[in-house]
Amino acid sequence: MELRIAHLYAHFLNIYGDRGNIITLTKRAQWRGIEVKVDAIDLAQQADPDYYDLYFVGGGQDKQQIVIAEDLLKRANDLKSATSSGAVMLSVCGGYQLLGHYYKPHEGPELKGISLLDAYTVAGNRRMIGNVTIKGDDGSFLVGFENHSGKTYLGQSVPPLGKIVVGNGNNGEDKTEGAASGTIYGTYLHGSLLPKNPQFADRLLQQALSRRYGDVNLTKLDDSLENQAHKRALSLPA
Ligand code: GLN
Repeated sequence: MELRIAHLYAHFLNIYGDRGNIITLTKRAQWRGIEVKVDAIDLAQQADPDYYDLYFVGGGQDKQQIVIAEDLLKRANDLKSATSSGAVMLSVCGGYQLLGHYYKPHEGPELKGISLLDAYTVAGNRRMIGNVTIKGDDGSFLVGFENHSGKTYLGQSVPPLGKIVVGNGNNGEDKTEGAASGTIYGTYLHGSLLPKNPQFADRLLQQALSRRYGDVNLTKLDDSLENQAHKRALSLPA
């Protein structure tokens, strides 16, 4: 088996070490004997929508978001077709904000998003910074770190990634964090997210691989170190 990952705007949107998510997905696949191909997709670089199993877009400051927003818009149809045929999209913070209808930063014009998620984001007047713990519908927890001023509001039909236990999440108001719509995931959790949330990393691997290989049974890994880090992060205050 082979896992094909497109790392969108790797050189622009990589704040707070979000590339750690790519490293985690790569290693967790390779530890199972699955080959991995990671392509860093830069501005104006083509990405065949039928080729990749998983897309990742990380976070960035407003100025980096302004640089990539127009290019991302040009990819809207390709990303919609890729995700509707089962490719996984994981987006963090600045990248997540641009998956909605728009992001209105503090200064300058509103940035049009690609509407992959029924959501919108407006810059708030305080930065939401600190540790975050969220609880998913299945009772599992995800841990991470947030640093954003943007406040994201989900449409009625978009389930959050989880409910806030510690921290602010989407907007510091409605106790939601992130979005999980089919194979499309958005989150404010930096850290990076996946190293300390191994089960979630495997959920993404499973979904991404099933696009071309059907139901894939991932062998169990020794996650004692990852689970120790997860447990420690669970105990951290906001
Ligand atoms: N610039 C956006 C904000 O401040 C996203 C920041 C980020 O990606 N950490 O909300």
